[in-house]
Amino acid sequence: MTDATDFSAEGGCTCAQVRYRLASRPLFVNCCHCRWCQRESGSAFAINAMIEAERVELLAGAPEMVDTPSLSGKGQKIWRCPNCRVAVWSNYAGSGEAVRFVRVGTLDDPDLLPPDIHIFTGSKQPWVQLPPDTPAVPEYYKASALWPQESLERRAVLIARAKKP
Ligand SMILES: [Zn+2]
Ligand SMILES: [Zn+2]
Repeated sequence: MTDATDFSAEGGCTCAQVRYRLASRPLFVNCCHCRWCQRESGSAFAINAMIEAERVELLAGAPEMVDTPSLSGKGQKIWRCPNCRVAVWSNYAGSGEAVRFVRVGTLDDPDLLPPDIHIFTGSKQPWVQLPPDTPAVPEYYKASALWPQESLERRAVLIARAKKP
């Protein structure tokens, strides 16, 4: 993760009405093993690439927001294709509209963004074996401890912008 701008990736929903492009490498990629992500994905975990909203270019379509309960109790806004209803990204209360949690499985090449960390492994399905070289935490973590310097600098820009009146 040295140069964010040498990265670009496209993705979209399953009916192809919604198409987007990530204009740079994400800030960090969380693989979440919480029960909520398991239920919402119908699978064992969700892989979310956190990236500044303005670095997600909408190429086609108009995702529709669905207010959804969340583990924190503060809710999440899940953005879905209005036609096939596939979720392409979410906003969470903490970072609000400024950061999109893009669902890595909706990238044309999801192999590009393996998890930087496994979170909520306390509720991980027992058959899932985590790679030994990727950080894993039972619940959440502090970005300052684990994100690369470049991502922390990008995060500082967002925080400074949020504080402006
Ligand atoms: Zn669709
Ligand atoms: Zn989760």
